[in-house]
Amino acid sequence: MATCLVTGGAGFLGSHLCDELLARGHRVICVDNLETGSLANIEHIRSERFLHLNLDIIEPYFVEEPVDFVYHLASPASPIDYLRLPLHTLKVGSYGTHHTLGLAKKHRGRFLLASTSEVYGDPQVHPQPETYWGHVNPIGPRGVYDEAKRYAEALTMAYHRQQGVDTAIVRIFNTFGPKMRPHDGRAIPTFLRQALQDRPITVFGDGSQTRSFCYVDDEIRGLIALAESGYHLPVNIGNPNEFTLLELAETVVEVTGSSSEIVFEALPTDDPQVRQPDISLARAILGWEPTVDLREGLRRTIEQAGEEALVGAAR
Ligand code: NAD
Repeated sequence: MATCLVTGGAGFLGSHLCDELLARGHRVICVDNLETGSLANIEHIRSERFLHLNLDIIEPYFVEEPVDFVYHLASPASPIDYLRLPLHTLKVGSYGTHHTLGLAKKHRGRFLLASTSEVYGDPQVHPQPETYWGHVNPIGPRGVYDEAKRYAEALTMAYHRQQGVDTAIVRIFNTFGPKMRPHDGRAIPTFLRQALQDRPITVFGDGSQTRSFCYVDDEIRGLIALAESGYHLPVNIGNPNEFTLLELAETVVEVTGSSSEIVFEALPTDDPQVRQPDISLARAILGWEPTVDLREGLRRTIEQAGEEALVGAAR
C-alpha cells in the first residue's frame, strides 16, 4: 500500500483518481479547497484509507505522514472557470505547483503534474507529439491557463534536474465521463445537457474544429501507469480518435435519442482548430492505449451519472 496525495481530488478527474487509487488498495490524501470541485464528488467514499484536507495550495502547506506519490491535479480547468479566475489560475500553476513540488521533495515522493494539451495552443503540427513545442498566445484570455501549465511544466523539470525530485508530466487531452458539471461550459456536458432536454445544441463556429475525447476510466489508468513508471519527460494521454464538433453533436443526439436541433454560435477567442494526441510514446513506454470509444463512453456517462445529474439545476 502506498500513500498518494491528490491535489484537486474533489474535482472531476481527481475524484475518479481517488476512487481508483482506493480500489487498488492505496491510502489517499485529497487536498482540495473546493474552488471548482465539490464534496458531492467524494462524499460516497467511506474508506478509512481516505482523508480530505480543505487547503488552498496557493499558500504553503505540509503533510506530516510520509507520502509516496503526489498527483498534482489542482487547477481550474474549464474555460468558464479560468476566465472567471485568471489570477487564481496563474497562482495555482505557479505558487501551488511550487508548494506541491516542495512537498514531494520533502517526502522523496514521485510527483506527477497534470498538464494539458493546451500547452500546444492552436497547433501547427497535427497530430501533436510531445516533441512539438506549441503555438500559444500568451496575452489572450486563455493565456492564463495555457501559460500557467507551461510554467508548471518548466518548474517541474527544474525541480527534477536541479533538485533531484522524481517527476512526471502528463499532457491530458479532453476527457469526459460522469461527474462533469453540466454547466462547466465544455462541449460534452453542454451537449448532453441540451440533448437530454431536447433543447437546441449549441455548436461554436461552423463545427468543423476537431477534438479527441477520452473516457475518464482510460485517462485515469494512463495517469497511474505514468506515475508508476520511471519516466520524466511529458507524455500525452488521450484518445486519438478525432471528431469535428458537429460530428460530436450528432453523436450525442443519436446516443441520447434526442429531438434537439443543432444551432451555431460565435467561436470563442483563440479556440484551437484541431486537437489530436499522438500517443505513440504512451503506447511504447506504458503499453497504454484507450479502450472505450466515444459512443460507449457517452452511454456509460449517461448510465452512471444519471440524466438528472447531467441536466443539473436549471439556470
Ligand atoms: P476540476 O475543476 O473538476 O478539478 C480541479 C480541482 O482543483 C477542483 O476540485 C478544485 O476545487 C481544485 N482546486 C483549484 N484550485 C485549488 C487550490 N488553490 N487549492 C486546492 N484545490 C484547488 O477540473 P478537472 O477537469 O478535474 O481537471 C483536473 C486537472 O486535469 C487540472 O489540472 C486540469 O488542468 C487537467 N486537465 C483536465 C482536462 C479535462 O479534460 N478534464 C484536460 C486537460 C487537463
